[in-house]
Amino acid sequence: MLWSLQRLGQCAQVVEADSCIVDAQSKAAALLYYRYPKLYPELSRYATMMHGIRHLNLKLSTWDAMHFFKVSVGGFDQLRETGHTTYDIFNRLPNLKRVKILLPDDQRDRRYQFTVKLFHPVSRCHRTLHRYIYEAIAQMQAVSDFKVEVKRFMDSNERIRFEEMQSKAELSRKTTSQDLADLYADSTGGVRLDSPGGSLASGNSDPLEHGVTREAVQSVDELFPPLCKCTPSCSEIMSSRDRIRRYDDE
Ligand SMILES: [Zn+2]
Repeated sequence: MLWSLQRLGQCAQVVEADSCIVDAQSKAAALLYYRYPKLYPELSRYATMMHGIRHLNLKLSTWDAMHFFKVSVGGFDQLRETGHTTYDIFNRLPNLKRVKILLPDDQRDRRYQFTVKLFHPVSRCHRTLHRYIYEAIAQMQAVSDFKVEVKRFMDSNERIRFEEMQSKAELSRKTTSQDLADLYADSTGGVRLDSPGGSLASGNSDPLEHGVTREAVQSVDELFPPLCKCTPSCSEIMSSRDRIRRYDDE
């Protein structure tokens, strides 16, 4: 995905007379907008095709999705390779309005994944891995201003569970936005906090309160690979998924 975005990032929109890079100063300004378009909207004359993206469809492998959405359960984020693309890339897309995410359905570890296995050799548990991913997506939503749609849950119970987290994240985001608006509007400075926590975006919040998996207190070695104890098993669901059209694939 990063490659595709970088390719689009090389194509300037050139919508204004002074959009061209003609000297060191304009080059520096264009680079500034390329990296931080939301911080420097006044430099939008240097926008590239990448900056114009409004909708994105994402389908990642389980390993890539867990790192892209910064899954941190058991310290999993410590395994993220330097430079691995994360959802921070969305900060470079000032016009992004909607992201559609297909939960992964790959079933084998990649060869290079020698640090930790995601798929149990006896019975793989996609439900557990999906939960890690969509819980991280819900946390991302607490600090995002675009619509997020997630598809290909294991079943409707998982979808409902995510939607509940999504509602809390949305409420948290709106609350945080309002707090910031109050902060800047209040000339005396500061926002009075009535109670500790209460926000997914807050460093003081209790993650368990927002549905983050309780296994978070365990280590990576204890959590991976998760053994399936679901009924029906995740393997059965995944194999039937291959034969029938998913109810929420559209
Ligand atoms: Zn399972």
